[in-house]
Amino acid sequence: MTDTLIPDKAASTAALERLDLRTQLFIDGRFRDAEGGARFATENPATGRQIAEVARGGAADVNAAVAAARRAADDGRWSRMSPGDRKRILVRWADSIEANARELGIIETIDAGKPITDTVGLDMPEAATCIRWHAEATDKLYGQVAPSPEGTIATITREPVGVVAGVIPWNYPAQMAAWKLGPALATGNTMVIKPASTTSLSLLRIAELGAEAGIPDGVLNVVTGPGDVVGEALGRHPDIDCLAFTGSTEVGRNFLTWSAQSNLKRVLLELGGKSPQVVFGDVTDFEDLAANVALAIFWNMGENCSAGSRLVVHRSVKERVVEAVRAELANWPVGDPLEPATRIGALINRGHMERVLRYVDIGRREGARVVVGGERILEETGGYFVPPTIFDNVRNDMTIAREEIFGPVLSVIEFDTEAEAVALANDTPYGLAASLYTNDLNTAHRVARDIKAGVVGVNAYAEGDMTTPFGGYKLSGFGGHDKSVHAHDQYTETKTVWIQLKPAG
Ligand code: NAD
Repeated sequence: MTDTLIPDKAASTAALERLDLRTQLFIDGRFRDAEGGARFATENPATGRQIAEVARGGAADVNAAVAAARRAADDGRWSRMSPGDRKRILVRWADSIEANARELGIIETIDAGKPITDTVGLDMPEAATCIRWHAEATDKLYGQVAPSPEGTIATITREPVGVVAGVIPWNYPAQMAAWKLGPALATGNTMVIKPASTTSLSLLRIAELGAEAGIPDGVLNVVTGPGDVVGEALGRHPDIDCLAFTGSTEVGRNFLTWSAQSNLKRVLLELGGKSPQVVFGDVTDFEDLAANVALAIFWNMGENCSAGSRLVVHRSVKERVVEAVRAELANWPVGDPLEPATRIGALINRGHMERVLRYVDIGRREGARVVVGGERILEETGGYFVPPTIFDNVRNDMTIAREEIFGPVLSVIEFDTEAEAVALANDTPYGLAASLYTNDLNTAHRVARDIKAGVVGVNAYAEGDMTTPFGGYKLSGFGGHDKSVHAHDQYTETKTVWIQLKPAG
């Protein structure tokens, strides 16, 4: 049974009173305190009030979790389980996440400030879909037999890398975790996973549901705590075989250094972006266009790695497009994330809100014009709310067009020719995503080919689905991709077995 019906505010409030939050580390199949009992506070970004205290893991806890994951990897309790049985457990887990989507969504909403309609209706079902999709592949992946010479047989098979660490951001806590958990566990690895310290709660409950679904002890471990302690300890750990990180480019690049300095663990990085939305002069459906443009930049408060933060628009339609996007904002109410009508909740914390507002100030000072938004609102709630903000007259060399703001801030940049549009789209150190809008199939194909980004949406803001890989060019990623069967490659080693046949007699 699924539980993805969006609760009204009264139902969420009542559910919150009954919630028994998981706040300890999850190691070797049980919840336990951090060594020394340290804890840290986690708050609700929509009220600024503390929700709970969470175990503050340290190096000793990372060691304990890695040791548990190593034991589980070495004795084969998971990797050597028959693929059909592994699949059944993971599918049961996915079903359980979906069946508990309401509870998990409410937890995610109070912990991350995200609208309840997104957490219950999208994040949890998508997390479940991801785990189920990879689980279902478990007993359908074949090895290969190489075309080796007569008298030999050569098999090429894939084996789990062993112990995989996941380091996860706060913007889609459950979904980003699922993008690692699904393929890494389906391919037989064991895991130690670290949520962002601002958003630890949903993953702890999801891990508990995994144990109830039958994931053996030690296969999935969760260590909560600060990034510069737990994240770095994982990055430097000599007994982790692969580290999958999603987060900022600034933090992500450290993992390459730590890998080089420790055991050359495989490092997979999904990083930031400054994605263009390119609108050509032949577009006609301005309402649909505006709905997509707004979704690309304002969904999840702009706290989205693939946010379309640069609107690169042909001069001939710019005024109409900006006006259409401004009108579309009537469909994007900002407010209490527990209200089902809300589409824009709170930014993750005070520090991040102040950072977003600093970028708005820089934009003004550098000569861009605020069309709408640009100030903190709903301050009386104690929450960290910034409304959709549109800057016109932006040049691509301005700070707001170059740096990832990670907030609801759209920069409008004009172009005249297709070549100029492509050059502007690619004039960024990032290359995660892009979208383009045109009625001309030739333009669509040419520009989709020429844009240097991992995912290009045509006539829609699109990231693909579970069947397609997701990852970036340039400073947006390194080493692999999330989603699709491509994600399986990065969590497996390739093994060749070369067999020399003896002649008969
Ligand atoms: P972040 O880099 O601050 O944190 C990500 C994770 O790293 C968290 O678990 C954090 O605790 C940990 N961390 C922080 N400092 C660390 C340190 N010094 N050493 C080791 N670990 C550390 O990122 P964030 O603010 O949580 O998330 C936002 C960023 O994530 C944005 O840049 C966004 O573009 C990116 N992101 C990318 C994707 C993608 O698929 N490419 C998806 C979502 C988010």
